[in-house]
Amino acid sequence: MGRYISPDTIDQICQQTDIVQIISEYIPLTSSGKNYKALCPFHEEKTPSFVVSPEKQVFHCFGCGAGGNLFTFLMKWENVAFPEAVRMVAQKVGVSLSLDEKVTDYKQKLYQINSQVTEFFHQQLKKNKTALSYLYKRGFKSDSIDLFKLGWAPFSQSFLSFCKKNDLPQDGLKELGLTRTSSSGEIYPYFRERIMFPVVSLSGKVVGFGARVLDDSLPKYINSSASSLFDKGRILYGLHVAQREARKSREVILVEGYTDVISLHQEGIHNVVASLGTSLTTSQIRLLRRYVDTVFLAYDQDSAGEAATIRGVDLLLENELQVKVISFPGEKDPADFIREKGKKALLQAKQKALPYIQYRIEATTGKDEYLPLEKKLEIVNSLFFTLKKVKSRYQLDDMLRRLSQALDFNEESLRSEFRRFCEEKYKFSFSPTLKFEVPEEEEIEKRLLEVMLCSQKAIEVARATFSPDSFTSPLCRRLAQEIFLCQSPSNITPAYLINRTTDENLSSLISSLSLNDSSLEGFDLEQLTREIAQALKRRSHQKRIEQLRRMIKDCERQGEEEKVKSLCRELVQLRRSILI
Ligand SMILES: [Zn+2]
Repeated sequence: MGRYISPDTIDQICQQTDIVQIISEYIPLTSSGKNYKALCPFHEEKTPSFVVSPEKQVFHCFGCGAGGNLFTFLMKWENVAFPEAVRMVAQKVGVSLSLDEKVTDYKQKLYQINSQVTEFFHQQLKKNKTALSYLYKRGFKSDSIDLFKLGWAPFSQSFLSFCKKNDLPQDGLKELGLTRTSSSGEIYPYFRERIMFPVVSLSGKVVGFGARVLDDSLPKYINSSASSLFDKGRILYGLHVAQREARKSREVILVEGYTDVISLHQEGIHNVVASLGTSLTTSQIRLLRRYVDTVFLAYDQDSAGEAATIRGVDLLLENELQVKVISFPGEKDPADFIREKGKKALLQAKQKALPYIQYRIEATTGKDEYLPLEKKLEIVNSLFFTLKKVKSRYQLDDMLRRLSQALDFNEESLRSEFRRFCEEKYKFSFSPTLKFEVPEEEEIEKRLLEVMLCSQKAIEVARATFSPDSFTSPLCRRLAQEIFLCQSPSNITPAYLINRTTDENLSSLISSLSLNDSSLEGFDLEQLTREIAQALKRRSHQKRIEQLRRMIKDCERQGEEEKVKSLCRELVQLRRSILI
């Protein structure tokens, strides 16, 4: 079980293996230009959108978005964890993994470090009045603080001296993402002056941390980076305390944050978990599937309608889970709601939870009594994408009936329209839902990353002109970080990057971008990078200018002359920089 394999060994196995050979052992591949094609094994389709590239050593399905390298493929196909997939490939290609006792010891050592550090943070919290009173103010009880082992990461020096005093090994701390090395070679703790939320595995061991600032500074939350213990996409926060109740009731409440899990738990609602990112992964859903049949979404009202959430829900439905949405009036999050109204009110809200399709219908139609036909068709179209994911016949029947009733359509015509939609796939008359629109920035950011993935020079140019923080899309920002972090850019290949992430969404982004490069032929990639970076800079400046204009108006109204002056100065400077 779960033993440590070094990143170098993983890359070595990856380099010695051909993805085409591995995948063709499972599904028939047909050659198509420089790539191979197949019907995707991960979703149902009639025309192949599953592409395997021998050159890039990645696969990507342009239908469902599944993508990654050969390990990702095996993880998905065989439903195994990353180390298991590596082991399977190693066996196939005859590389021996010397997984001796020493290696197992190493992993035990890592658990030991996490456990000592958790205790240290916990003790620090108990001594820190500001942090404690912040938690109390937000309604945390001291029992919960103990049960969830909340902690406080102090300022640099005290953490480092704690590590030294307890002989915690440098390489272990680094592997766990607890310390980092600055460009001048100095070691510093990653978590500083933050409330710490240990993330605990099903077996009760601390595998990583989430951390929150006390004030409004950004980023509000950070997580441990991926390590041989911590795989964000395969963990649900709180599941170790929720599992018993979840299994018993066959229900789970899915919330967005650590604080929601704790707030509900301390009021006696125990079957609550949170995903550690905005969108759910297939692995997390498989995990839930073991315990429950019904998932209650208790998200902030705005995020329940967001594209990332919708994609997550589509995945839940695809895995034959029932999904219901709990609404909290007044745009509250579950933690606020239960603190103000109590357990009973929350359970009542849960009882009134709408089946997901019903929720989407109501969210899109609003409270309007009368809907023009055009609007109705738009709703139908956006929901068909979701309905297509529903595997259970009964569930689908029920949803189509609700939809026809809500929009006052003839049920039979709606059904036949839906059948046609499924056959014709992407050729529906209306563009997909309004909220599916990808912001233009994200498109440009993807383009930049695409160029970086196929040219080392482009990486250098981008590094010199751009910081990962300027990416607006969180997923793009993370990929940029990974690329910039890499010490030797000549190593960077899509397969290499995929080996360094455990997030399925990130793997999918990498594989899709690297299979897109035919459109780059004939371009001077260095020059292109410069142009894209400029375009992005200009956009972010323009955004700031709009924001400044609004702020200036507000300040003028309130007569804050000094502030108006300084804002105007910034505005003038920005305008000038755009002209250059
Ligand atoms: Zn697919």
